[in-house]
This record gives sequence, structure tokens and C-alpha cells, in this order.
Amino acid sequence: MFKALILDQDAEGLASASLQEIGEDQLPEGEVTVAVEYSTVNYKDGLCLSPKGGGLVRAYPHVGGVDFAGSVEASDDPRYKPGDKVVLTGWRVGEVHWGGYAQKARVKADWLVPLPEGITPRQAMAVGTAGFTAMLAVIALEDHGLSPEKGEVLVTGAAGGVGSVATAILAHLGYEVAAVTGRPEQADYLKSLGAGRIVAREELNETVKRPLEKETWAGCVDAVGGDMLARILGQMKYGGSVAAVGLAGGAGLPTTVIPFLLRGVNLLGIDSVMQPFENRQRAWARIATDLPMDKLEAMVTPATLADLPKLGADILKGQVKGRIVVDVNV
Ligand code: NDP
Repeated sequence: MFKALILDQDAEGLASASLQEIGEDQLPEGEVTVAVEYSTVNYKDGLCLSPKGGGLVRAYPHVGGVDFAGSVEASDDPRYKPGDKVVLTGWRVGEVHWGGYAQKARVKADWLVPLPEGITPRQAMAVGTAGFTAMLAVIALEDHGLSPEKGEVLVTGAAGGVGSVATAILAHLGYEVAAVTGRPEQADYLKSLGAGRIVAREELNETVKRPLEKETWAGCVDAVGGDMLARILGQMKYGGSVAAVGLAGGAGLPTTVIPFLLRGVNLLGIDSVMQPFENRQRAWARIATDLPMDKLEAMVTPATLADLPKLGADILKGQVKGRIVVDVNV
């Protein structure tokens, strides 16, 4: 028997979570059984933990947890053997497939990535989908020609998970980082991660009629979307790129094609969920070299399975700072 945070529906169809002891025979099918050590809380986890499952959970009872890291306990796949350290992000695990909010998980071998040298399971969950996505965004910007001498790079939703990791990686790579936050009290935190200056959310939240403003940003990692993304597109330097990662501020995009036509601006879509294995390995290898682990540790708030219902609600309200690491064995 092992511990799991089980989400189940009441008679009205609203889900709530309870800690339960369950058996291995209740785990879903899959080639690899993992002894989970750590999981985390992403925005999507907040949705899955909410009473209606955020429209993501398909069936109850359900175990959430989009990400987990741990060691292989049993494997029917030749790529993995007991004891191997592995990490899993995405593939709709924690949404349609049972995830990491339990002491054991059973998944497809194709979904796992061997942990790169130098990264522990705890550090991997401090990174999680949010940090992995931040790395994918930085790689996409670089692949489209971004380099430190091109100018300042903007990070939106900076005190959140994606934003914190993007700030730390970009600063470590020598970029000048401008961090957008709606929480001025997090200015010192963002500067400690390497942000050169703080931009108040209100400055970029207003819509403007002009499709182009002063050329300001060489690149942008955007976790916010909506009006803010539309505004940023008009402030990009000639040929600059925005990696669109999230929708914390809205899914709409009230823009014109002018920044694309007159300034050659690129809008790069970033998806972390269905990335092929080779891209995942590339991103995790870059995380091992380009994300300073002391900065990562400064982002971490530790938690347990019992804390998850509250933390899920907090992240949906934009109240979580940095990254949460859930020790499932406490
Ligand atoms: P967090 O909640 O940790 O961070 C989001 C941050 O956005 C908040 O901390 C806040 O930062 C800012 N924010 C919140 N609400 C608003 C608002 N109304 N207007 C402007 N800014 C706001 O979430 P994550 O970092 O985990 O995820 C960020 C986004 O990226 C989410 O939309 C998520 O769904 C998406 N995502 C997408 C992935 C992909 O594969 N494309 C993978 C992972 C996440 P501050 O307080 O500093 O302003």
C-alpha cells in the first residue's frame, strides 16, 4: 500500500481531494512503475485540483500531478531498469492519466526522460514543467537569433514559476533581463535571480491604439498573453522574437499584423506537453548547465501532499512565488 492524493466527485459532480492508502493494482497500465520522490504545482495542477477539474480531468477517481521525479521500481521496457533516476513532465499525465501526487506512478516508458547528470529528483521538480518550458522558450529565442548583445529581454509573469526560471536562465547566460511583475514586493526576489530592472504590470496592461511603440525589447518570454502580449509585440525591436508560453492574463490576443509586417517580429509558440524525446533531452541538458542551482533553490517553497488543495487554489489566484516542491514521502 502507498499514499496517494485521490480526487473524487461528490453527488453534484464537484471534485475534492483526500489522502488515501491505495494498492499497486489500482495504478493505471504502463510499462514503468516509478517510486515517486517529488512532484510540484504548476498552473495546470491548480486547474486539475479545482472542483471542476479545470476541464482537463476526464475521469474520477483521479490522481493529479503533471510532473514527477523519482527512481524506477519495475520496468517492462529495456530502456529503463530498477534504480534509474527519471523525470516526467507533460504528456497529459496528471490530467487524463494518473500523475505524481502519490508515492508510486505507472506510465509509458516513452514519457520518461532519464535525469541528466548533476540534477537530483528534488531539483528536477523545482524545475518541473514551468522551468522546462522556460528553457524551451529560451532555446526557441536563441534558435531565432537572440544573443545577449542584441539588447534587453523581457520576462512577464516574472515572479511565477515560468518567469522565475526564465529570469535566472537568461541572466546566467549574460542577458539583461527586465522582469514584469504585478507584485512590487517581489522586486528584491527578482533581482536576486538576476533581473536588471523591474517593470510594473500596469505599465504593460493598458491597451494602446498605436500598433507600434518605441523599439525596446530584443526578446521576450511571455507567460501572460492577452492585452500584455499584444502591447509587447508593438514594442519589440526589429527582427525580435516573443516566445508565447502562457495565458495567466488571458487567452485573447487583440493585436494587428503591423509588428510582424513592419518590424519582422516573430511570435514563437511554446508547447511543453507533446515535445518529442530529443527536444526534452536537449532542454534538460541545457537546464543542467544554464540554470544556477543556488538560484533554483531560492525559488523553492517546500510542500507535502496534504498542502496541495490550498496550493492549487493559490496558484490559480497568481499568489504562488517561484516553484513549489512537493515531497510525497512526508
Ligand atoms: P504561475 O502562477 O506560477 O505564474 C504566473 C504569473 O503570471 C503570476 O505569478 C503573476 O506574476 C502573473 N500573472 C498572474 N495573473 C496575471 C494577470 N491577470 N495579468 C498579468 N500577469 C498575471 O504559473 P506558471 O509560471 O506555472 O505558468 C504561467 C503560464 O504559463 C500559465 O498560463 C500556464 O498555463 C502556462 N504554461 C504553459 C506551458 C506550455 O507548455 N506552453 C507550460 C507551463 C505553463 P507576477 O505576480 O510576477 O505578475
